[in-house]
Amino acid sequence: MTSDTHDLGPSWLDEIPQRLAALDAAHLTRRRREARPEDGAWLRVDGRRMLAFCSNDYLGLSQHPALREAAIAGARRYGVGSGGSPMVSGHSEANAALERELAEFVGLERALYFYAGYATNASIVPALVGPGDALFSDALNHACLIDGARLSKATIHRFEHADLAQLDALMQASPARRKLVISDAVFSMDGDVADIPALIALCEQHDALLLLDDAHGFGVCGPQGRGSLAAVGRTGARASRRVVYMATLGKAAGVAGAFVAGSQVLVEWLLQKTRSYTFATAAPAMLAEGVRAALRVFRDEPARLAQLQRNIARFRAGMPAAIEGTPWTLLPSETAVQALVIGANDDALRVMQSLADAGLWVPAIRPPTVAEGSARLRIALSAAHAEDDIDALLRGLAQAARGPRDA
Ligand SMILES: *Cc1c(COP(=O)(O)O)cnc(C)c1O
Repeated sequence: MTSDTHDLGPSWLDEIPQRLAALDAAHLTRRRREARPEDGAWLRVDGRRMLAFCSNDYLGLSQHPALREAAIAGARRYGVGSGGSPMVSGHSEANAALERELAEFVGLERALYFYAGYATNASIVPALVGPGDALFSDALNHACLIDGARLSKATIHRFEHADLAQLDALMQASPARRKLVISDAVFSMDGDVADIPALIALCEQHDALLLLDDAHGFGVCGPQGRGSLAAVGRTGARASRRVVYMATLGKAAGVAGAFVAGSQVLVEWLLQKTRSYTFATAAPAMLAEGVRAALRVFRDEPARLAQLQRNIARFRAGMPAAIEGTPWTLLPSETAVQALVIGANDDALRVMQSLADAGLWVPAIRPPTVAEGSARLRIALSAAHAEDDIDALLRGLAQAARGPRDA
């Protein structure tokens, strides 16, 4: 690499080692671990058996035999890759069937199946608004909504998390004719839910559209996991024509990819205008077959969602005693995402390490993913956890809470 003798002058490339060292000094270096699933929520991590509270596989479907078999059968029938954009040859009959089933499942007119959630949001926002239009974005929105907002070149108005009075005032003051509100339905790092009926009402009042990202609500919220719109009864005949619903398929659905759903006309517009749909290789049919199996499991195995709900209740009931005497805060959440705010980056890492020593894998989330001074443990609960697993986590947290004083 260094054999080109003409390239010996100073370069900004030479600063990168120092910049990496600065990240390390601020406890911001991110490290990956090599993991392999074992049984339940247990993983083999860098060779060691650990109980994981870090997976978004909220119903344990990624390991479900019906999904495995459906994907294998899909690979036999269609091959592994899709071969092209859905606009050319990649729109297999499996993907088409999945789109119909997704629309029916979430109670909206039509759906589009994408290969990844990040690319979906980064690309549907610019399909909906552009320069001269106005965007209103909750401060805690996921990074891919923010990137979509930037790509759109619309004027971005950020409102404080869940502050609908501020949102109302910002929309009132905006002269833009086209307005789009974007919000997570379940906030990915806090676990709380958006007030969807109030957001829809504001959008009606201001002639705005509402894009809801239900990555953490699909499969978890609403009857049978039909999602956050179903949870508030705004589907079917009560669906709003102003809502663009988006959810990912790599979390509770246990596979990969994402979809967008809404009215016939909005989805047709997105099909015409979304660059990550047109200019990317379609999701493989074998994965579409896996997701179709997940939808059947959502419907036929209600015990999974019930188990997740019991785990959430058991965890929350045990937390006050476990963390008593610490300045830590468990944020309010009825979803699978439970945030324990610790504060400083190095404290959060220390608690994570204490849990890891006890064989519990709980990720510390630090800035810039969350606000400065709000480093936290993001505890992801799953139907794959047994009651004993929840109790082990509570014991580990109680131990970590006592740790600094014992040391
Ligand atoms: C995970 C996530 C995404 C991205 O979805 P991928 O399919 O993983 O690319 C989008 N939005 C939210 C809120 C997420 O948590």
